[in-house]
Amino acid sequence: MKVIKFGGSSLADAGQFRKVREIIASDAARRIVVVSAPGKRNKEDAKVTDLLIQCARMRLTGRDAGGEVSRVIGRYEAIAEDLGLPSALTQGFRKDLCARLEGDVSHPERFEDGIKAVGEMYCAQMMAAYLTQSGSAADYVSPEEGGLLVSEEYGKAQVLEEAYARLAQLRDRPRIVVFPGFYGCSREGRIVTFSRGGSDLTGAILAAAVGAKVYENFTDVDGIAAADPRLQKAPALIRELTYEELRELSYGGFSVFHEEAMLPVFEAGIPINVRNTNNPGHPGTWVVNARRETASCIVGVACDGGFCSIFVEKYLMNREKGFGRRLLQIIEEEDLSFDHVPSGVDHITVILKQNQLSEKMTERIKERILRELGADTVDIERNLALLSVVGVGMRKKLGLASRLTTALARANVNIEMIIQGPSEISMIIGVADADGPTAVRAIYAEFFGNEGK
Ligand code: ASP
Repeated sequence: MKVIKFGGSSLADAGQFRKVREIIASDAARRIVVVSAPGKRNKEDAKVTDLLIQCARMRLTGRDAGGEVSRVIGRYEAIAEDLGLPSALTQGFRKDLCARLEGDVSHPERFEDGIKAVGEMYCAQMMAAYLTQSGSAADYVSPEEGGLLVSEEYGKAQVLEEAYARLAQLRDRPRIVVFPGFYGCSREGRIVTFSRGGSDLTGAILAAAVGAKVYENFTDVDGIAAADPRLQKAPALIRELTYEELRELSYGGFSVFHEEAMLPVFEAGIPINVRNTNNPGHPGTWVVNARRETASCIVGVACDGGFCSIFVEKYLMNREKGFGRRLLQIIEEEDLSFDHVPSGVDHITVILKQNQLSEKMTERIKERILRELGADTVDIERNLALLSVVGVGMRKKLGLASRLTTALARANVNIEMIIQGPSEISMIIGVADADGPTAVRAIYAEFFGNEGK
């Protein structure tokens, strides 16, 4: 049995629905289908989820959401009409959305989650109707009926352990199951959404619950590329990578697959196959437990900007017990989360996302570290980018750091710091934000240029 998830661009219009139907019908093992809400049809278009968020916010601020409601329902009407589905279906959606918008707004986040989830809800209902009409008998199953129980944390729901046993029963259903992505149901029966892009997570949870052979994740690219195509022209496609590698690349800014979605399938040992709805003959990228060696010791290079570093220096810091703890305690008390803490003999640096730090806070933290820790110097630098160079093949590779640093030096990129974790499957290199794209291209050319050395 395969669990197959389609992203928003795969459901943007009737033509995409037809492609999805063909993909499902071409393999009898594709028994559980998870859908996102219709996405953009072109660059200027809006995602249905964004329109729904606007609807909710109009209502919350006492404005008329009629225009937005029509835009949302219009998307479904266009699809239904083209596919020859009965208009009663979309009339039902309009009635349902209007009724929800009239609902209780005393808890704004709860209200917004209840509205923004319907993009997936209607899409799944429509897909089930279309599959059935075209000869692949399918049922819409809601998170409530299927048992996708989640915590009541609006916009960032967490799956509850007991959901897995309930969802496992989906395996025994005789018809194809079409399940809406992005949200679950709390114990109190309320709709709660995952974070944005969360349909990936729904698919992963279902795959783990039913013990699927594979979790197929259909999107609009042939698979995961070795570098961000916005930074590197025509990057090579990764055929196979491990969960660990994908985790490191996602951390570094790769966004093909939702970060949280890895855990359920990783724990259940289910491979993920990222594939293209618009090119279904392509094998895509496989995410697996262990992979074969490839020619290049790295699988990819990612770059994420917007970090800052808090550099703290104090003579004989290495002898002072509790210094690190007290420094991190200040970070915690200021309600900040940090990413890395590289250290030297008399200095330590805390690296964190700079959007957490206001100007005022920067001054306060500096002052606290100087006063409470008696530091000699505290320097806070902004606009740092972190490059993640990732690959399990790096583990036993001699001279890798030298290749990396030489490639960066040749490209005139100054290295601000290097962090190599104990797992040795990634190296994180700090450079100025402005140098990020050049650095990615330099590393890509070194490891993948000339047909990938
Ligand atoms: N439709 C939701 C979003 O745009 C969830 C998803 O597509 O995965 O975030």
